[in-house]
Amino acid sequence: MDYVKLINCMRCGMCLPTCPTYKETFLETASPRGRVALLKKMHDGDLDQSERLLEFLSLCLDCQACASACPCGVNAGELVAEFTCERKTAHGLSFLEQQILHNLVPHPDRLEHSLAPLRLYQRSGLQKLVRTLGVLKMFPKPLERMEGLLPTLPPRPLRREISEVTPAIGTERGTVGFFLGCVMSLIFSDASRATITLLSALGYRVITPRHQVCCGAPHMLSGDLAGLKDAAHHNIDIFGEYPVDFIVTDCGGCGAELKKYRHHLEDDPTAARFSAQIRDISQLLALHGEELRTKMTELPLKVTYHDPCHIAHCQGIRTEPRELLKMIPGISYRELDCADSCCGSAGTYNIAHTDMSDLILSRKLDSIRASGAELVVTSNPGCLLQLKKGLAEQLPDVRLMHLTEVLAQSLATNQ
Ligand code: SF4
Ligand code: SF4
Repeated sequence: MDYVKLINCMRCGMCLPTCPTYKETFLETASPRGRVALLKKMHDGDLDQSERLLEFLSLCLDCQACASACPCGVNAGELVAEFTCERKTAHGLSFLEQQILHNLVPHPDRLEHSLAPLRLYQRSGLQKLVRTLGVLKMFPKPLERMEGLLPTLPPRPLRREISEVTPAIGTERGTVGFFLGCVMSLIFSDASRATITLLSALGYRVITPRHQVCCGAPHMLSGDLAGLKDAAHHNIDIFGEYPVDFIVTDCGGCGAELKKYRHHLEDDPTAARFSAQIRDISQLLALHGEELRTKMTELPLKVTYHDPCHIAHCQGIRTEPRELLKMIPGISYRELDCADSCCGSAGTYNIAHTDMSDLILSRKLDSIRASGAELVVTSNPGCLLQLKKGLAEQLPDVRLMHLTEVLAQSLATNQ
């Protein structure tokens, strides 16, 4: 760990009001400033790694809201993630982690087949029965939570449905590569289909390489740096086979990770080029806002936007999604209080820390309720899963959509 990053904290406290876990606990040890201090003390050898201390560190969501607020450029979330990654790397992967990260995640076919039992569980009516009878209450909380987060799966993953090349509609203005995230393909296929539709409608030829693999974020979370680098090399090589102007993604988490390939592989110039080509879909669509506007028809809806941490804090993208939404005729846009505060999803945080995740989600749902919105828009699969569950339980009349779904819907009503 870079010691300079630890000593840069001047303890001003400007990060405290932005930290979701500090807002819930008011504990210094659960704040960015406190976490940086704990890491520094451990680094200096003044503090041992006790269970309690590790627990406080593990409560960090790595949402990086603190980094957006810090005047000194300290990123407490990233420092905690780096510490956790180093610890996990030193301990090595468990047997189960090895199976998932080495034999499942890097192989899209296997990943897709692994969801077949879940599809059967949903289609056979068993899920409905299990939920009605409340059987899951008898199982460990993480399992109950995983089941509760599971939305209805599409009949087929999008990767199996779309062709590798989608032609531009009308005059071709360029070619983009599409990085289709695993969860987007497996669960939120409608959103990624909408992404391709929008790009094609704007005159882009869209190439979705069939052999791309997971961005490597799960490897990073587990401290499997070798697995992460393998994934990065593979994706760089695959996309390198196509002459594309940009590589677009509609998954905030994937976008943040792909933009970091240049740091993961700092001696590889192709990694720097690859990362420089990555665009969140909102960045590219906003470049063609005026043209998009002429193709849109009215959607009379009260809409709000939840900023995914991976998009707002990790990539610094806040204006484009809002501009695009406000462009849709008939939309009444409502800004959400603390729109860029985490929803409590944070990878597997909502499974590992259910109580804290629920508190953070409740706060987000209160903001949504206060906004009076009928539709919440966001653009990261983790947020979609978390908000879907929260809205279903507490605000069943409020709908949830990915940004590209709303935009494509406005185009579709025009066709
Ligand atoms: S992390 Fe940054 S904002 Fe927070 S106390 Fe330290 S210097 Fe201030
Ligand atoms: S990353 Fe998020 S949860 Fe962690 S210290 Fe920063 S603001 Fe708090």
